[in-house]
Amino acid sequence: MIPQSGRMESLVPSGIRAFTALAKTVPGCIELTLGEPEFDTPQPIKDAAWAALQAGQTHYAPNQGLPALREAVAAFETKRGFPCDAGEVLITAGATGALFTVFLGTLGPGDEVIVPTPAFPLYETLCRLSQAKFVALDTAPWGFQLTEAALAATVTPRTRALVLNTPNNPTGTVYSESSLAAVKKAVLGRPITLICDAVYQALSPAGPDLTLDPTLRGQLLLCQSFSKPWAMTGWRVGYLIGPAETVARLTLLGAAELASVPTFLQTACVAALTQDPSPMAAAYERRRAYVYTRLRSMGLPCPEPQGAFYLFPDISRYGLTSDEFCRRMIREAAVAAVPGSCFGGEGHIRVSCCCGDDTLALALDRMEAFLKTL
Ligand code: PMP
Repeated sequence: MIPQSGRMESLVPSGIRAFTALAKTVPGCIELTLGEPEFDTPQPIKDAAWAALQAGQTHYAPNQGLPALREAVAAFETKRGFPCDAGEVLITAGATGALFTVFLGTLGPGDEVIVPTPAFPLYETLCRLSQAKFVALDTAPWGFQLTEAALAATVTPRTRALVLNTPNNPTGTVYSESSLAAVKKAVLGRPITLICDAVYQALSPAGPDLTLDPTLRGQLLLCQSFSKPWAMTGWRVGYLIGPAETVARLTLLGAAELASVPTFLQTACVAALTQDPSPMAAAYERRRAYVYTRLRSMGLPCPEPQGAFYLFPDISRYGLTSDEFCRRMIREAAVAAVPGSCFGGEGHIRVSCCCGDDTLALALDRMEAFLKTL
């Protein structure tokens, strides 16, 4: 065995992937595990990639990203009310690449990072890799929202970042005006970076949005992705927006990690920004409403999802851990969900609506029958 660096000790396999793999061992199991659109990437985007390849775009792109894509991203963001220019944009390998660059590039030993939980597990992994302290702020007692008192009790002089993921994975919640006001109060004027992970924004109805508050711009880093709105998870393209001087420094880290995102994919992403994601958003909205109604009628309390494509029902009344509940549901009902424990939300499971309506209905029928056996 080749020796590993100390930082490898902190890495554990993803629970989301583990439960997806377990589902594959049961024939006919319906997987409501991965947060991955089942739609195919729209044809004009694929055509643009092919045309770029044919045109010989097979060489390195600049480390910060193709100027044409950075300009298109800046125009896209400016249009939605987030004025920025190409110098403030770094093209990354998905939002994962953006988050990796932000955590490793801005946080270190002794720094505390507040993460409202339940949360996407990558944030904890990146805290470990950057040797920063992951400080969970449990939002369950406040209906998965944030309050001034809860934040005030969590911020310390060592707090250096706060992660804001809205619409939220795994709860589907969108933070309310009052949650966002509490966040603003906690961070404004303090040396705390607001790391906004908004990967589900374009797939969700417009809601309160702290990224649009100009007073926070100097301390805000926005992580975005092409993965979800345009069903491009396998393309691995996203971006980071922040103050130009910070982005210039973080470009050096991105350069050491990846040099640059593939050139022809970046050109195709310019085309993606011209595609309207609202038909897919409408499909997820319909499914969220359907699954919410079905779960409620099964007697499972569930926060009402307002965005993304997840629901996070409470299964605690069955007296099983979320891990055991999900294992049994795979074995006994051929339906796979992800235990809430993977997100720091024990007592819940995450149900992803990334499959066709008929499959979703069948999965919920099976789940309903399963609950009756418990
Ligand atoms: N942030 C959140 C909240 C996510 O759910 C995901 C993907 N599941 C990502 C970031 C990463 O997305 P990607 O790297 O595909 O852009």
